[in-house]
Amino acid sequence: MNRPSLYFTDEHELFRQSVRQFIQKEVVPHTEEWEANRRIPVSIFQRMGELGYLGLPFPEAVGGTGADFWYSVVFLEELARCGMGGFTTAVSVHEYMAVNHIFKTGSNLLKEKYLRPAIAGEKVAALAITEPDAGSDVSAIRTTALRTDTGDEFIINGAKTFISNGTYGDFVTLVVKTKAEAGMNGISLVVVDLDSPGITRTKLNKIGWHSSDTAEIRFDDVRVPVENLIGQENMGFYYLMESLQLERLVAAVMAVSGAQLALDWTLQYLNEREAFGKKIGKFQAIRHKIADVATEIEMARQFVYHTCWLFTQGEVVVKECSMAKLATSEMQKRVVDTCLQFFGGYGYIEDYPIARAYRDARVGTIAGGSSEIMREIIAKIVVDAVAYKPVYE
Ligand SMILES: Cc1cc2nc3c(=O)[nH]c(=O)nc-3n(C[C@H](O)[C@H](O)[C@H](O)COP(=O)(O)OP(=O)(O)OC[C@H]3O[C@@H](n4cnc5c(N)ncnc54)[C@H](O)[C@@H]3O)c2cc1C
Repeated sequence: MNRPSLYFTDEHELFRQSVRQFIQKEVVPHTEEWEANRRIPVSIFQRMGELGYLGLPFPEAVGGTGADFWYSVVFLEELARCGMGGFTTAVSVHEYMAVNHIFKTGSNLLKEKYLRPAIAGEKVAALAITEPDAGSDVSAIRTTALRTDTGDEFIINGAKTFISNGTYGDFVTLVVKTKAEAGMNGISLVVVDLDSPGITRTKLNKIGWHSSDTAEIRFDDVRVPVENLIGQENMGFYYLMESLQLERLVAAVMAVSGAQLALDWTLQYLNEREAFGKKIGKFQAIRHKIADVATEIEMARQFVYHTCWLFTQGEVVVKECSMAKLATSEMQKRVVDTCLQFFGGYGYIEDYPIARAYRDARVGTIAGGSSEIMREIIAKIVVDAVAYKPVYE
C-alpha cells in the first residue's frame, strides 16, 4: 500500500511497477556480462525505445511520450535500482543530457535526424564538454569549429575526454569554440556523427561504472555541415548552464535511489548474518548507524523531490539543483561506505553488489560538476547574492 504523496499519483506508481519489472527481467540478469564487456548492448537502447522509456521528457511531436516530469523521476529512481552505475549513466546521459539541447533549441532538421532516432533507441547519443585540459572551467575549452571559406561547413579540431557513450555512440553534442578569444561568449554546440572521417576514439579504463563506455575523442579536421549547429552561434555556454540544472537534478534523483538500494541490501544482510549467537542487525552499534543512514537518505529524498517540484513550476533552481547534487552525491558515498562495512569481508568481494556500489558511488562527487564547483555556485548565490535568470526568456 502506497503512502499518500504530494508528487506521485497512482498512475506514476503503476508506471514504477512496470519499469521495476523491466529492470529486474531485462537488465539485472545481464549485470556480470555488461560489466565485463565494459559496455551495454545497442539492443537495450532499442528495447527501451520500444517501451517509450527514452522519450519520457519529450512531446509526441518528436516521437516522445509527453509524460509529466514525475514519470522521469520514477524512471530514474528505478533505473538506479539496477545496481549498475554504468548502465544508469549510459541511459541517463543519452536521454537527459545529450539530446536535451537539440530538443530545446535545435532545428527541425536536427530533431528529425538525431532526436527522433535517439528517442526510438536507434541512435546512441553522447555529450562532450570536458577536454584533457579543461573540465570544471568550461570557458577554457580549446576545441575549435571554424567555418570554411564557403561558409557551409565547420572544420573541427581538438580533443574531448571522459565522454560517456563516446566509443560506441552514434553522435555527439559537441561543445566547441566558434570565436577564439571570446571566452564563454565564443562557445557553440554542434552535432557531430561519431563515424565521421578525422575522429579517433579511445576507450578509457575506469575504477567503476564499468558497464558505461567512456572515451577520449580526437577531432582532426572533421567536417560538419553548418546546419548541425544547435541554436544560435556563440550562445552555447548559456545553453549549457541552463541545462546543467536538469543534469544535476537527474544525478541527485539517481544518487538517492542508489543509496536506498545499498541500504536495502544491507538490511537484508543484517537479518541473515549472525555473530556472537545473534543476527548482526541486533547490535546497537550497527542499528544506530543504520538509523543515521536511513535518516540521511530520507532527508535527501525530500529535498530532491521539493527541487523537482520547483523545477516543474519553471523556477530557476540553480541553487537548489547545485545543493541537491552536492548533498546527495556526498551522501551516497558515505552511505555506501557505511553499508559496505556491515558486510564485513564479503563487502570487499566482487560477487557482492555492495562492492560494485562502492566503486560506482565514488565518481558521483566528480562527474557532472564536482562538489567543489557545486560549493562555488552555492557560495556565489548565498554569499555574493548572485541571481540567475532563465536563458530562454
Ligand atoms: C566516469 C566519468 C564520466 C564522465 N562523463 C562525461 C561526459 O559524458 N561528458 C563530459 O563532457 N564530461 C564527462 N565527465 C567529465 C567530468 O564532468 C569532469 O571530470 C568534471 O567536470 C571535473 O573536471 P576535471 O576532471 O577536468 O577536473 P578539474 O577541473 O581539473 O578539477 C580538478 C580538481 O580541482 C577542483 N577544482 C577545479 N576548479 C575549482 C575551483 N574553482 N575551486 C575549487 N576547486 C576546484 C575540482 O573540483 C577537482 O577536485 C566524466 C567524468 C568521469 C570521471
